[in-house]
Amino acid sequence: MPAQTLGASHLSPLHHASAPIRAILEKALEDRDITPAEAATLFRARGRDVAAIGAVADELRRRQVGDRVTFVQTRNINFTNICYTGCTFCAFGLPRQHPDAYAMTVEDVVHRAEEAQSWGCTEVCMQGGLNPLLGGDIYVRLVRAIKAAAPDIHIHAFSPFEIQYASQLQRRPVREVLLELKEAGLGSIPGTAAEILVPEVRQILTRNKLSTEVWIEIITTAHEVGLPSTATIMYGHVDGPEHWARHLAILRSIQQETGGFTEFVPLGFIYQNTRLYASGQARPGPTGRESLLMHAVARIMLGRWIPNIQVSWVKLGLPMAQMLLEAGANDFGGTLHDERISRSAGAETGEYVAPAEFERLILDLGRIPAERDTTYHILHEGPRYYDPAHPATMPGGQT
Ligand code: SF4
Repeated sequence: MPAQTLGASHLSPLHHASAPIRAILEKALEDRDITPAEAATLFRARGRDVAAIGAVADELRRRQVGDRVTFVQTRNINFTNICYTGCTFCAFGLPRQHPDAYAMTVEDVVHRAEEAQSWGCTEVCMQGGLNPLLGGDIYVRLVRAIKAAAPDIHIHAFSPFEIQYASQLQRRPVREVLLELKEAGLGSIPGTAAEILVPEVRQILTRNKLSTEVWIEIITTAHEVGLPSTATIMYGHVDGPEHWARHLAILRSIQQETGGFTEFVPLGFIYQNTRLYASGQARPGPTGRESLLMHAVARIMLGRWIPNIQVSWVKLGLPMAQMLLEAGANDFGGTLHDERISRSAGAETGEYVAPAEFERLILDLGRIPAERDTTYHILHEGPRYYDPAHPATMPGGQT
């Protein structure tokens, strides 16, 4: 659709947008890449400009990926919460002496993966703290053991920080570690541990964590060896529009080079139980306006390169997540049995959403539900689990 179609009518949201915002949105509607400075301008929008940005993001979403809203059946396995990194935004990592510290055995993890497969999950997502007691080969041992017991399940696991940790403990290059994991059966890695890829913000969030340069190097190497990844941002703490724009620009340039990102997932900061918030440095998570703009500007800036923009219902809550599917996003994320990291930080949303509930919310928007696998192959399209005649039964998953 030409740019003027959205701008032609006096009823169009573009008509009410301020001149600088309208100029950027018209450029986006012409399928041209916006600059980081233009993205920062969009992130600062207020009032009717916000609605215009959301409407243009929704239009680009429709053009780029159509009316499907996808989701994946996955189980989270946070195999240990013992961690000494001390990220100030994290309430999940604990010292080993803490009464709530835990580390699952390999057998525990395998059992959870087998359960997940029996529930219909196509993926297990594994991340944990950096637990020195487990040894540098824990990651490959976990992958091998799961693949032996549940060969069909896709293993989406280990952040760039965990990959760096394995590489350091084993004194082996990152590429070798990634290749070994891939050969063992790892399917993809989460692009977490990115937080905000801007050094001055990272310094406040996590002094001991890997640098922006190392994050980029590990993600790029993963893509090169054939391990796709997600891309993430954690926003709504000590950050702001310029940081977000710089972060998105880094992700876009990686994608232009490797094509290895499967999706972009904005993760709002859950503040309640964190030292970062208690110290008075951070605000209490993103506002609704900021979350809307994060998803919409991501669509506008990244959509041509990373077509899948996910809503994190764990961070946003289901009603807000549903609404952001009308502002540029096209993926509802995973069913997420057993998610622990956000709940440790104080997230109130539950630990599981049944596929039927995803379908109900997608149909409520007038869109098409579709179950996908980790790398966005569509497994089936149209409602399969939700029965409008019996809306309370919610079949099709763990109850
Ligand atoms: S975010 Fe990860 S690395 Fe940082 S403290 Fe928490 S568990 Fe450890």
